[in-house]
Amino acid sequence: MSDTKEHYCSVCRRPESVTGRQLDMGGMYICMDCMQRTIDVMSSNGFNLTNMMNNMPPGMVSDLTSGTTGEGGSESDGKKDGQDAGKEKTETEAGRQNGFDPFSFFKLRTGQSAGQQAKEDEEVPLKLSDVPAPHEIKRMLDEYVIGQEEAKKVMSVAVYNHYKRVATGTMDDIQIEKSNMLMIGPTGSGKTYLVQTIAKLLKVPLAIADATSLTEAGYIGDDVESVLSKLLASADNNVKRAERGIVFIDEIDKIAKKQDMHSRDVSGESVQQSLLKILEGTTVEVPVGATSKSAMVPLTRMNTRNILFICGGAFPGLEDIIRNRLNKTSGIGFTAELKDQYDSVKDIFRYTTIEDLKQYGMISEFLGRLPVVFSLEALDKDAMVRIMRDPKNAIIAQYQKLLALDGVDLEFTDDALGAIADLALEKETGARALRSVMESRMMDIMYEVPKDRNIGSVTITGDYIRGKGAPVIRMREEEIPRIHTPEQKRLGGTAE
Ligand code: ADP
Repeated sequence: MSDTKEHYCSVCRRPESVTGRQLDMGGMYICMDCMQRTIDVMSSNGFNLTNMMNNMPPGMVSDLTSGTTGEGGSESDGKKDGQDAGKEKTETEAGRQNGFDPFSFFKLRTGQSAGQQAKEDEEVPLKLSDVPAPHEIKRMLDEYVIGQEEAKKVMSVAVYNHYKRVATGTMDDIQIEKSNMLMIGPTGSGKTYLVQTIAKLLKVPLAIADATSLTEAGYIGDDVESVLSKLLASADNNVKRAERGIVFIDEIDKIAKKQDMHSRDVSGESVQQSLLKILEGTTVEVPVGATSKSAMVPLTRMNTRNILFICGGAFPGLEDIIRNRLNKTSGIGFTAELKDQYDSVKDIFRYTTIEDLKQYGMISEFLGRLPVVFSLEALDKDAMVRIMRDPKNAIIAQYQKLLALDGVDLEFTDDALGAIADLALEKETGARALRSVMESRMMDIMYEVPKDRNIGSVTITGDYIRGKGAPVIRMREEEIPRIHTPEQKRLGGTAE
């Protein structure tokens, strides 16, 4: 563009300073958003893009196709292809056949880097043999996730059923619901960790979103498509891979409909509404390389039918709803004497029903799209100790490995592990607190021990964790001088 005058989009009337670069359509300007929408509408109504291209003035065609491999198609029908006679083609496919891909054209023309382009054609088919049976998924989960037996079992079956249907292309044929899940469990009980572990084991992309950041379309914040953008990014912008990934929406209880009619927050219910379509399966235009739609962000289409949605939340207050219901039912007739028997039940979430969740503020349609509902238990001291000690990448093993690099054996007594678990439980953030407690207690050890090369082993005791004593340190039988710098070497040390 040689003139400096600001152009206005002929369709939406927004200036170029707002829309980003506009296309010069022979004196008439159009922004990328409007151009994209126009092409989408035309395509969905059976308009022949190739025909349009062929009938455009030559200058305009070259402007449009510059930057693509455009050879210019001579075929005017666009529905039939010479080599593939009889095969129906969509408008966009016909366009691509002729070297013009409106999607890639926009990306190129708007200066998007290749990395931000959606890769739509690289499909690695998912084979049924790639999907491990439920007991194998559970066995793999057992290596990482401690306890939560019921949750692991339910998830293994749901994930297996889901990917079996994806692999065999029977998602629509079988009249059973999609295996989207709703996990109920206290903070730090492993909800996110379970989903992360499953995605890693199945090698599918995963996006983790927070329901509190989602807003209804048109409001400030992320709209629901933003979670799909994240999924696309985690699939390296490969649309086909993203379309069979997992989306985890955390803090789902925060978008419950408020019971209090005077509450100022009324948006939760509408966010639930706006999630309905994507949970079920729909085609959505998703920004590539960003989480919000704007003029300069290219869009791609993603179908959410094969995406597994898992929602999780701590649902504080739900336990009262469940207890009240249970106590009410048991208060009828001759069981009346057991009226408050559920008051002391520990894992009350196990008794959750859809009615309880509705009463909590989740809308029926939303719950209807999350047919697999299960709960996770609050982790007790024993589980906390096992989490530190038993999983494949256990936190203790990580510290042991670090000190082993200095040639030092690190041990924890059972009392020490119990003391760490006690301190973590005080924080009421589940297993999440373990790392911070461990880090604070191990800080001095990790600082002091490497100073002295004669230390052979360190045993962390309960007293040390409770701040009442020192760790047990044993020296090596043979002294190993520590050599760090050339200066130290020069002064007479021996290198390891
Ligand atoms: P939340 O339930 O709040 O989503 P997370 O899954 O984020 O909790 O748990 C926090 C961390 O605690 C995880 O990254 C993991 O290291 C550890 N953790 C939690 N639960 C378990 C568990 N059952 N087994 C092993 N580690 C766990």
